[in-house]
Amino acid sequence: MLNYSDALRIVCDESSKIETSVEKVHILQSVNRILAEDVYSDINLPPFNNSAMDGYAFCYSDVRKWKLIGEISAGNYKDYILSPDETVLITTGSKLPDSADSVVPLEDVEISDSFICLKDNVKIKRGMNVRLCGSDLKKDQVVVHKYTKINPQVVAALASCGMEQVKVLQKLKLAILTTGDELVPVSQKPTGDKIRVSNSYALSAAVTELHQSADLLGVVNDDKSRIKELISDALHKECDFLITTGGVSVGKYDFLIEVFSELKIEVRFWKVNIKPGKPIVFGVYQKNERKILVFGLPGNPVSSLVNFQIFIRPAIAKILHQQDSAKISALLLNGLTKNDTKRHFLRGELVNENGEWRATPFSSRSSGDFAEMSKSNCLIEIPEHIMNAKQGDVVECLLI
Ligand code: AMP
Ligand code: MG
Repeated sequence: MLNYSDALRIVCDESSKIETSVEKVHILQSVNRILAEDVYSDINLPPFNNSAMDGYAFCYSDVRKWKLIGEISAGNYKDYILSPDETVLITTGSKLPDSADSVVPLEDVEISDSFICLKDNVKIKRGMNVRLCGSDLKKDQVVVHKYTKINPQVVAALASCGMEQVKVLQKLKLAILTTGDELVPVSQKPTGDKIRVSNSYALSAAVTELHQSADLLGVVNDDKSRIKELISDALHKECDFLITTGGVSVGKYDFLIEVFSELKIEVRFWKVNIKPGKPIVFGVYQKNERKILVFGLPGNPVSSLVNFQIFIRPAIAKILHQQDSAKISALLLNGLTKNDTKRHFLRGELVNENGEWRATPFSSRSSGDFAEMSKSNCLIEIPEHIMNAKQGDVVECLLI
């Protein structure tokens, strides 16, 4: 059976062929989006020489006492022509007169009779406390590079360059179709052999958490022709990913594989040597010039969510030219054994104590344990060849 690394490589190779569209959004809507172009500064930053302190502006010489002849506050420039023994009060960020080149801070001087005198032991230097025009960035230089994920710091840079509208990659659309006769809506109390649908909500939340767009296509019974109809509709709508849940095992009512091939979805793999989430199917649907990535996930909520984190999340990162979140090396707090050669992704809790990461795997490995899953914040990865992991061993963890 295909191992995890090979399966992930196949997914990432296909993802790297997906072209994303670009849209313009208002700067206030741009946070967490991916910048789609290099942004150049249309001005020097800062745009003029200015004071880094509240103080007195002067032209450097061996003078240590100046006559105060006026003041400049931020946004209220006056072009004083200072002789070497004259100074003006200046506030932080205010434009420096051309005749000054240095600023002494308020706390370093004494004032008497409109004269400013340096306190004893205060040393001055030419250019002190002055931010020079263009010292941060020169006009026409790149201030933020293409494919930068926009955060508040980036927004500050974009705003200073006058980018009211920002070109970003369009959000990826992930359509999610849920299958299973046993499923009833969240709003309904399940009776008999029914259960509430939960995995599509979890997957939708996972998509939202990555700042992409989820389109819930609803729940369909284990009825092959109806499933086929809905998948066919989904493929003809606008989406980048089609995710189905349920029906990918080998049970009598597991139709998804058949439906995928009947609809000309090219299946790249089915089943990966992992636990949970082994029955995952991955395929590609070619739609004119574009491709849709198709993931058939098992219905089990733990399996489908783990599949999302270990396959779909890296696929999204690849398409958006982002690094997938790095794994964290942590000390295992409980030993564990496994009796197969699958790669395991155990739910667990990762904490940082005094700068050291520690991971506690949860005891249940049942794929349907909601209460426990809701307490986990990581997946602890145990590679294929490891059968026993001891307390204190170093393990790789993926934050979820
Ligand atoms: P399947 O992959 O269709 O064989 O389903 C595997 C298990 O997951 C079964 O116990 C299902 O009842 C359960 N399951 C399937 N789909 C869902 C769903 N949408 N929400 C919650 N549980 C599900
Ligand atoms: Mg099913």
